[in-house]
Amino acid sequence: MSDVLESPCFREEALRIGGEQVHTGRRFDVLNPYNGERVGSVAMASVEDVRRAMDIAQAYQPRLTRYERSAILNRAAALLRERTEAGSDLITAESGLSKKDSVYEIGRVADVLNFGANEALRDDGQVFSCDLTPHGKRRKVITTREPLLGVITAITPFNHPMNQVAHKVVPSVATNNRMVLKPSEKVPLSAYWFADLLYEAGLPPEMLQVVSGDPREIADELITNPHVDLITFTGGVAIGKYIAAKAGYKRLVLELGGNDPLIVMDDADLDKASDLAVQGSYKNSGQRCTAVKRMLVHQKVLADFTERVVAKTRAWTYGDPMDRRNEMGTVIDEAAAAHFQRVVDDAVVQGARLLVGNRRDGALYSPTVLDRVRPEMTVVREETFGPVSPIIGFKDIDEAIRLSNGTAFGLSSGICTNRFDDAARFARELKVGSVNLWEVPGYRIELTPFGGIKDSGLGYKEGVQEAIKSFTNCKTFSMPW
Ligand code: NAD
Repeated sequence: MSDVLESPCFREEALRIGGEQVHTGRRFDVLNPYNGERVGSVAMASVEDVRRAMDIAQAYQPRLTRYERSAILNRAAALLRERTEAGSDLITAESGLSKKDSVYEIGRVADVLNFGANEALRDDGQVFSCDLTPHGKRRKVITTREPLLGVITAITPFNHPMNQVAHKVVPSVATNNRMVLKPSEKVPLSAYWFADLLYEAGLPPEMLQVVSGDPREIADELITNPHVDLITFTGGVAIGKYIAAKAGYKRLVLELGGNDPLIVMDDADLDKASDLAVQGSYKNSGQRCTAVKRMLVHQKVLADFTERVVAKTRAWTYGDPMDRRNEMGTVIDEAAAAHFQRVVDDAVVQGARLLVGNRRDGALYSPTVLDRVRPEMTVVREETFGPVSPIIGFKDIDEAIRLSNGTAFGLSSGICTNRFDDAARFARELKVGSVNLWEVPGYRIELTPFGGIKDSGLGYKEGVQEAIKSFTNCKTFSMPW
């Protein structure tokens, strides 16, 4: 017997293959990043297990009507809302995210389900008349969207243990596809819990199977299995590019890293801007692909803005994730926290000034603000997937745009100005997937298009509507009319 304590939400999980719970000979533990308790033990899939799931998915032909798909998704949303506490406790236990963050996440997942249910009812076919040109004919072309012929592989990251999964599973259900999901091995329990909720709501188990294990062992099979038509991946750039190189002739949706700026112009209301800065930097422990990773601030207001951000950072409560008074819990694990500390220490050695934070206790890492950073420092150039925000001054809008576009990423951005001409210029010239005026870069609703360009993605978006487009083939039918 080990002396590690078991969490109150301990779960012993098996793979979900073809409607069965499959216990394999090998297992791995999931530990609570805050207190080290065992939150779960999960079966590890072999390559054979993955192949079997793919064969079952390929052989199954979903026949659910639009009404049935919509009803399943709405039922799952209702069950989820009833079980908000249990679901958010599990997210918090396995990820260290605060209860505030995990309750918010459950609400987002329910939104994804409801939007998916609505979209399932909406026929997005188009009708074209063909007698539009001198050589046209009296015919019509009607488009329909069909599920893929093959299977969808979904691979998800740790940062939103349930919502990342929902954004892949729900559009797949809404379109009558079959999906094999591999959640992050850091937070697999929320994914299994969510899959069970869908089965309970009536989802045929062949439409969603879940496998987990060591990615070094099973990831290649998930990418290259001949039944797979599409791989939808959210995670870091290195793995995204690995998948792109490996996948060959398969459709790819890649949602990769970000290095998003919050840009504060000299006319901005600094109280409002500094609120957005801290919320954008520290919510979800700074572990959002669209977290504020750089604060770009006009020189004229730099000192005043910095003072406000430092004061609000000091007031940002963090600690025990289950304590509802805390805004922030831990980051994903101690190794991640130690990495942030190292990156900040290095920046300080190179001349940056630490204004607040950079304290660590296990996987707890305090919200951190730095200034006097330079673009070539790792803390600016690379994505820091935690609550660290460097403040960088600029002299005019040209420099702000140049700095903003000066990294390999192109995910999102937030703009604080009331001057319409400046706002319009940012909207046109920032090389990113989203520009949010007076909002954090992470602002979105679950329905709207979301995703990046450059190293942040290939431009194919997520958000329920866009994912539905990626997950379907458009067929045209023409006839005399
Ligand atoms: P990660 O890239 O380390 O892991 C993501 C997933 O890839 C996990 O499920 C992991 O098991 C799997 N994986 C590992 N090796 C693999 C391989 N060889 N082939 C296929 N899959 C493999 O990412 P993470 O640390 O879980 O999440 C953080 C990253 O995700 C950050 O870079 C963040 O910006 C990014 N992210 C992007 C978005 C977006 O929408 N653009 C959203 C959230 C997170």
